[in-house]
Amino acid sequence: MPELPEVEVLRRDLEKEVVGKKIKAVDVTGTRSVRRHKTKADFTGPLVGRKVVSVQRRGKYLVVKLDGPEALIVHLGMSGQLLRAKSAREKAPKHTHVVIHFTQGGLLRFVDPRTFGEMFVAKYDALAEVEELSHLGLDPLETAMSWELFGRMLADKHARLKSLLMDQKFIAGIGNVYSDEILFQAGLKWDRLSDGLSEQEIRRLYRAIFETLQDAVKFRGSSLADEQYVDLFGKPGEYQKHHQVYDREGQACPRCRRTVHRARFANRSTFYCEACQV
Ligand SMILES: [Zn+2]
Repeated sequence: MPELPEVEVLRRDLEKEVVGKKIKAVDVTGTRSVRRHKTKADFTGPLVGRKVVSVQRRGKYLVVKLDGPEALIVHLGMSGQLLRAKSAREKAPKHTHVVIHFTQGGLLRFVDPRTFGEMFVAKYDALAEVEELSHLGLDPLETAMSWELFGRMLADKHARLKSLLMDQKFIAGIGNVYSDEILFQAGLKWDRLSDGLSEQEIRRLYRAIFETLQDAVKFRGSSLADEQYVDLFGKPGEYQKHHQVYDREGQACPRCRRTVHRARFANRSTFYCEACQV
């Protein structure tokens, strides 16, 4: 599932490609992608004729701000893709569910084979009332925060580090891949308790979160073998080549050459090095 870095890469691509463009028409085929709306027209109505003002990100959600009261919200789910096309003559990929045409030419396609992703419109001023957006925790790329404050936030919880990192109410945007990479970078094991860290460990974790996510954005996100992430131009990310432990069970730890292990935790796999992470 795309996490913060992948969504941030798309956000930056979209900002360059669609800001200032006016929506001419919106086609919806199949209604699962716009399932929050009773009818297709409820979804398309507020969009048509509007100009894109900015593209923002809230955790793993994209918020396309328009020059009207509504914003278009996009969640990629497991396998969603947003793809730019120069013209409608470019063949649409299979599983294209929504197409946004711009007055200036060009279009944006929402492709989603597994249909866990979605698009919906909501009043921009009332985004806080959208359930999924209302409880989001701090954004590691956008919130300036000291490690001391971060340390107090950790100490206030009594949770295993992996679950806390993946808790969208605590930090928004981190999932199974980046929590493993961050914990490896920090030298901390996934089952450590958040209120049991030394000052040095807090600093390491704090630094690992920012560095790992920034690096991942720099390498344009992770495209995993079994998933579908590509950027706005259909190009896969490169960061999977830099993964240290994620999905590397049985391979040598890049730091100590011992074997990377996999554990089952909360129904997910977690990858770690027993020697480097304590
Ligand atoms: Zn190691």
